[in-house]
Amino acid sequence: MIIRIAHLYPDMLNLYGDRGNIITLTERMKVRGIEVYTDAVTMGKSFNSDDYDILFIGGGQDFEQDVLLDDLKKGKDKEINKAIHSGRVMLAICGGYQMLGKYYKTYDGKLLEYMGALDFYTEGKEERMIGNYAFKMKEGIEVIGFENHSGRTYLGKGVEPLGKMIKGYGNNGEDGTEGVRFLNTFGTYSHGPVLPKNPEFADLLISKAIENKYGKSELVPLNDLLESKARAQVMKLYIK
Ligand code: GLN
Repeated sequence: MIIRIAHLYPDMLNLYGDRGNIITLTERMKVRGIEVYTDAVTMGKSFNSDDYDILFIGGGQDFEQDVLLDDLKKGKDKEINKAIHSGRVMLAICGGYQMLGKYYKTYDGKLLEYMGALDFYTEGKEERMIGNYAFKMKEGIEVIGFENHSGRTYLGKGVEPLGKMIKGYGNNGEDGTEGVRFLNTFGTYSHGPVLPKNPEFADLLISKAIENKYGKSELVPLNDLLESKARAQVMKLYIK
């Protein structure tokens, strides 16, 4: 089996080591005998999302999100939109997550009009939402992460949240939701990076990518003893 990953703007959107998500996906597939190839799709580079099984985009500061806007609108927006609506697997973190929505109005009044691939918008406030946090997905997976954002995201009717908050702010600190989920697209505020801390979430993405391409997926369980111990420690210290 072969899985191809497109890493969007790896040199611009890589806060708190978001690239670690690519490393985790790759390693968890390689040990299971799956071949993995990752292409960096950065500014000035066009891509066809049909060539990829997983799309990944990390987070960034308001500055980078603004700088990227022109490039995004030169065709990447259409490819990302197509991938999302055709059920391709996509993981988007924080600033990258915000870019899938309609717009992001920064705390200092700049309006960044995004691709509107998904039904939500984001508005920033000066007071940032920062800290270790956790949320629960509908599969029962408890995701641990770290959030640091000024943007408050409000979901529309066309999408569902990725999870319900256990501790922390999540989308906006008001409605108890975190992230977005639509077909096989997952958006979250969770840096950290998120997948090394949450192997079940990583395997969910891998399964969906394999199902899409090969019809069904039966992932061999891995030994996640170290990850489990680290998770238990974080839960004890910061969450519960
Ligand atoms: N710049 C965005 C915000 O502050 C996203 C931040 C991030 O990716 N951590 O909301």
